[in-house]
Amino acid sequence: MPVTDIRIEVCNHHPARSDGRYILYWMNAARRLGWNFALQRAVAWAEKLQRPLLVVETLPCDRPHANLRHHHFALDGMADNARGMAHRSADYYPFVERESGEIAKLLTALGEQACLVVSDLHPLRESVRATQQLADRLPILLERVDSNGILPLQAADREFTTAYSLRRFLQRNLLPHLLHMLLADPLANASLISVPALPERIHKRWPAADHDLLTGSRNGLRLLPIGQDTGPVATRGGSVAARNVLQVFLREHLDLYHSRRNEPQQDVTSGLSPYLRWGHISSHEIVQRLLDLEGWHPSNLSLETRGQRSGWWGVRQDAEAFLDQLITWRELGYLFCARRDDYDRFESLPAWAQTTLLEHAADPRPYLYSLQQLETGQTHDPLWNAAQMQLIREGRLHNYLRMLWGKKILQWSPAPQQAMAIMLELNDRYALDGCDPNSYSGIGWVLGRFDRAWGPQRPVFGKIRYMSSRNTARKVAVDAYMTRYRP
Ligand SMILES: Cc1cc2nc3c(=O)[nH]c(=O)nc-3n(C[C@H](O)[C@H](O)[C@H](O)COP(=O)(O)OP(=O)(O)OC[C@H]3O[C@@H](n4cnc5c(N)ncnc54)[C@H](O)[C@@H]3O)c2cc1C
Repeated sequence: MPVTDIRIEVCNHHPARSDGRYILYWMNAARRLGWNFALQRAVAWAEKLQRPLLVVETLPCDRPHANLRHHHFALDGMADNARGMAHRSADYYPFVERESGEIAKLLTALGEQACLVVSDLHPLRESVRATQQLADRLPILLERVDSNGILPLQAADREFTTAYSLRRFLQRNLLPHLLHMLLADPLANASLISVPALPERIHKRWPAADHDLLTGSRNGLRLLPIGQDTGPVATRGGSVAARNVLQVFLREHLDLYHSRRNEPQQDVTSGLSPYLRWGHISSHEIVQRLLDLEGWHPSNLSLETRGQRSGWWGVRQDAEAFLDQLITWRELGYLFCARRDDYDRFESLPAWAQTTLLEHAADPRPYLYSLQQLETGQTHDPLWNAAQMQLIREGRLHNYLRMLWGKKILQWSPAPQQAMAIMLELNDRYALDGCDPNSYSGIGWVLGRFDRAWGPQRPVFGKIRYMSSRNTARKVAVDAYMTRYRP
């Protein structure tokens, strides 16, 4: 099944070189061997040109917030991929960067012998820049392929400012893309020639991640120029763990999703966001498994396309609610970042939100906390402190508390721009799902993005939606949560 053109972006004007030694797939976002449009495209090229396929997965050391926690999680995924590729007809080269710039040099060297390069299309700046720079350097074709969501990024005709407007658009336009599913295992029936040995100088200069880094004690990470004081957490990364998490969610928690998903203590949400963030699982696979479970057929879809939050899919309420989060809310963030280069800046907030926040910037704050006080959970608010401790200890934070967490940072910071900077710092550094388009839509949401103006106006918040710990504790049970995550 060919990948549709709308998911493919051609990044330079060079043709594929017919005398190259292999097709190079640079895996840097969709870090998985199944349900991956870019891999599927690379396999199709390899079959067409009758050349071997070399898959190079890279882990950079110079991305914002590269740290031990994120590296461990990503390496679990690389270990799964190494195991998964062991008996395949394509070659897999996992590379962990030791100093900034190595990845670009390795890919340039490998690109010299390639027919063409296929890469992942991911909407964040660093990824767009790195792939474009490689495309500009190499004299061969480089294609970026979009595996991000059910709606291809190029299929949106405008910037969506609310979940409602995107939902309405999806209800009218999603079905053809949904039906164009991708292969669960693009390598399964591929007849590929095996890759000739790579030159010794490549192995010597840029050695592939060894057993210790992939599955051993990973002592080598201590030598890397990455954040050394943000340690790993118990949650394992990788496609195998992601599938287990999905299984547990579908079996044990989906039935409670609609009614209980805001309860931090019960925590029936899927826990899939870190795996989506690192590309260890695809939203296509999640959607397919869920729809299979529901016995769904396209004829279930409602003909009414008013942007209603439930009832469109024609599945149970719990499944509708989950699909709305996974598709509407998640893809809202991806689409936003794909269109706006300033997605993590104050200036990217809607004009009304900037205006009201700036009008109230000089309001007196009852409490002001430094980044360090916030980081260590030293505020007067025990629920907030507990949320921060969960983030630090487990690398995750329940969605409902995450909203409260952000709102309080706004209230306790000297200015909204500083609040935004603190949220970005803490979220992206500690959360396993941080540095994702949804980090910026979630933090932006705290400051009014994708939301509307609320009244009455309040100090500091102005017309921005307000949340308080007292109201949260009234709405959902938090006693056991606060005991569990006491600083
Ligand atoms: C201040 C703040 C910061 C946030 N930072 C991040 C972040 O760094 N990374 C991140 O992925 N999400 C972030 N979110 C959104 C949301 O909190 C998480 O996606 C969600 O909690 C993940 O848990 P889950 O996988 O169990 O979600 P589930 O409820 O099981 O939902 C399934 C999937 O839908 C998507 N989703 C769910 N809720 C949202 C939402 N509100 N916005 C966008 N997508 C959503 C996620 O991909 C999630 O994995 C943030 C929200 C706020 C308010």
